[in-house]
Amino acid sequence: MDYDVLILGGGLIGCAIAYELSKYSLNIALIEKDYDIADDVAIVNSSIIYDGVQCDNNIMSKLESIGNNIINELVSKFNLPYTQKSSLIIAQNEKEEKRLEEMYNRAIKRGISNIALLDGKYAYELEPNLNLKVNKALYSENTGVICPCDLAIAYGEVAFDNGVTFKLEEEVKDIQKLNRGYKVITNKNKFKCRMVINTTPEDYNVDGVKEKTYKNKGYLKYFLIEKSFKGHFSNIVFCFNEDQEMMCMCPTVQENHLVAINTKKDTNYNECYEKVNYLICGLKSSDINTFYEVPFYDNNIVIDDSLVHDGYIKITGKNYAEVTMTAAIAQIVKDTIINNLNCKFKSDFNDKRREIYRFRDLSNEERKKIINLDEKYGKIICACNKVTEGEIVDAIRRPLGARTVEGVKRRTGAGYGNCRGAYCMSKIVSILARETNKDLTDIVKDSKKSKILLNRIKEFDEM
Ligand SMILES: Cc1cc2nc3c(=O)[nH]c(=O)nc-3n(C[C@H](O)[C@H](O)[C@H](O)COP(=O)(O)OP(=O)(O)OC[C@H]3O[C@@H](n4cnc5c(N)ncnc54)[C@H](O)[C@@H]3O)c2cc1C
Repeated sequence: MDYDVLILGGGLIGCAIAYELSKYSLNIALIEKDYDIADDVAIVNSSIIYDGVQCDNNIMSKLESIGNNIINELVSKFNLPYTQKSSLIIAQNEKEEKRLEEMYNRAIKRGISNIALLDGKYAYELEPNLNLKVNKALYSENTGVICPCDLAIAYGEVAFDNGVTFKLEEEVKDIQKLNRGYKVITNKNKFKCRMVINTTPEDYNVDGVKEKTYKNKGYLKYFLIEKSFKGHFSNIVFCFNEDQEMMCMCPTVQENHLVAINTKKDTNYNECYEKVNYLICGLKSSDINTFYEVPFYDNNIVIDDSLVHDGYIKITGKNYAEVTMTAAIAQIVKDTIINNLNCKFKSDFNDKRREIYRFRDLSNEERKKIINLDEKYGKIICACNKVTEGEIVDAIRRPLGARTVEGVKRRTGAGYGNCRGAYCMSKIVSILARETNKDLTDIVKDSKKSKILLNRIKEFDEM
């Protein structure tokens, strides 16, 4: 056997499972088709850590609650930006009030604490900028916001440091059942393993590979609001608009604000802008940084272990709260694997992520210290987000380091500011080329076909 366990897919769930299993005496590899791990995790994500109050399905609620309980421990261990942000679900009429009361009673039955049903006037005290009538509000202190890409990369880095092999740019083409275990066939290799954990959307069966298509429930239309906007909320606020569409306003860890509308209609920018004004006072179009749309999924997540006796586990479904559930899913899968394979906890398991210095978060005293150690931390590359050359070099040299412009952006925030990289893109490309020992023309945005510089201009070669 080449491996005890092969994890297919290096998204958030794949990386979390790799981390959990790296604690055990197992020979593990993760196969990811893209240049980088966590490439599919939306960079602008609502990023909410839910608490199991809102969802109808009891099992999804349990996964959210378990994931929510683990998150504090994870963020302090991995030194990740995470902000606890209370949430308010607003009821504006009798029908919504009734629904909120049912939600509250159900949450109490589920054993969720730190929640309260508030009268409208308390909601205004918590959120003076609310621009709507509030009869009642369901208040929760359990929620928060995180950066899902950071979380996935942290999981991956610690798994890598504890011996997991990451096979990037390798696409799984087929899986074949053997007498014992499986053969996994990729575009580059064939591997034999005792167990396969499939976190990709692909189904492998006798008919070959089939991409599973998940049904979306409408779309999320997002507005990213400028940091300078004064009318933002300090809690995560959920409400229904006149068209009975769920709306949500939440702060992000980057201190911007997001407003999301969950709609089934094909609404354009102007219509969405009108709807957002329903929720927040005084929002001008100049306060809006970005407007975009993504499909909204609320499928149940299923950890399908019906073939575990053969050595196959598949995680299916797409869900708006998957970030929250990830830690719980990874622990369940880990328990199943260690029950099925004879393995021991590694005494030398190192549960620490290598230190990261974020210049924008340091005090002047700390900045001075780090610049004395490495002068690259004194050179700002991304002026919008105050990212230094030192941070970019570190992002490239770290375990599973960035190899693309998108990889640098996801790890450091460089190029993610108001100028969208107009000022720093060429500098990032030069640093990537220098650090990876490549030509400038070999540096890509995120995939093979996304070259930043197509060719050298002939004349320059002669200069
Ligand atoms: C806009 C948006 C907002 C969201 N907001 C929230 C939120 O507020 N709170 C929350 O909890 N969750 C949220 N989510 C959910 C969450 O971000 C995602 O569901 C989660 O990141 C998905 O992780 P995953 O590992 O399951 O899937 P993916 O990230 O899709 O991972 C699958 C991986 O498998 C790889 N792969 C596919 N096929 C192959 C192959 N053949 N061979 C090798 N590799 C392959 C892919 O490249 C990918 O990296 C949001 C999602 C979106 C899109």
